[in-house]
Amino acid sequence: MLYRRLGASGLQLSALSFGAWVTFGWQVGRGEARDLLALAHDRGVNFFDNAETYNNGVAEQLMGDVLADLRFPRDSYCVSSKVFFGAVEQPLPTQRGLSRKHVIEACHQALQRLRVDYLDLYFCHRPDPDTPIAETVAAMDTLVRQGKVLYWGTSEWPAEAIHEAHRIARENHLYAPTMEQPQYNLLHRERVEVEYAPLYEAYGMGTTIWSPLASGLLSGKYNDGVPADSRLAQPGYEWLRESVLGHGDERLGKVRALQPIAAELGTSLAQLAIAWCLLNPQVSTVMLGASKREQLAQNLDALELLPRLDASVAQRIRRAVEAG
Ligand code: NDP
Repeated sequence: MLYRRLGASGLQLSALSFGAWVTFGWQVGRGEARDLLALAHDRGVNFFDNAETYNNGVAEQLMGDVLADLRFPRDSYCVSSKVFFGAVEQPLPTQRGLSRKHVIEACHQALQRLRVDYLDLYFCHRPDPDTPIAETVAAMDTLVRQGKVLYWGTSEWPAEAIHEAHRIARENHLYAPTMEQPQYNLLHRERVEVEYAPLYEAYGMGTTIWSPLASGLLSGKYNDGVPADSRLAQPGYEWLRESVLGHGDERLGKVRALQPIAAELGTSLAQLAIAWCLLNPQVSTVMLGASKREQLAQNLDALELLPRLDASVAQRIRRAVEAG
């Protein structure tokens, strides 16, 4: 495994990490979750990502049960939660958002579900237009000072709001966000590469990037239709199917254009797409998702490809995606 610092912090995360979205408590039950976490930890993965909203708390509960069962030493892994969407189907106004009340209560609930004494990473899952940023920064600072959270961050906040959070933290001597959690993959680059560019140097922010395969699209599995057991066929995720596949043939064309490069390198499309994310030094960790053990095993092997992605291969990849 390769380890990278989370921005300018001293925390070293595995370059490949593992998250629970859609899968835990939905496609994946306790036995499979145990297998997946055991495999990941065995291969050096030290960061497991979760959120209050993933299957309304069930994903955290399942991860907590399995972590307790596997008895990994607590200092051998990091676990996260994210606050904003709530953990019930129709949250009351106090059960969602980034108010001091919900940030603190959601943290306590996540600690219980995950069965840990502190969250290594805690994210504001989205910006909250109904809460002053200063209130959220102060609530996060409180949790850090109480030892319930080690590093706090944002997810998909506009760069402007992140600047504001840092300004407030600096002026009030509060803990500032250490990391962002944005989507980043071959088909979605703008925010990480352009919008956030000033943040890395100004504040030393790290990134824990999500959907390296664009929900599986970049594995090529949707090139000839939607397999019945795949994420985009899951009932209740029609919105995701529309968001990933509802662009006519444009995105599929780009995936197909990458196929010859993967074939030439003797690798899978998924491994190519995952290793490509790590070419960006601002990526602290690539968060993998997997519903099956074989997928996770294959994706973890993407690290072996990294040394072969030199500048000329990277340029071919870029051109294929631009032209495809
Ligand atoms: P990916 O884009 O890598 O999608 C993962 C899914 O793709 C798997 O569940 C599986 O779905 C399919 N897949 C994975 N590997 C392969 C393979 N080798 N061959 C074929 N299919 C494969 O990542 P996620 O979208 O899951 O994102 C990773 C993590 O990031 C999440 O678990 C979550 O923790 C976090 N996240 C954070 C968000 C945020 O807003 N902060 C938003 C989204 C995710 P299947 O088998 O079902 O088809």
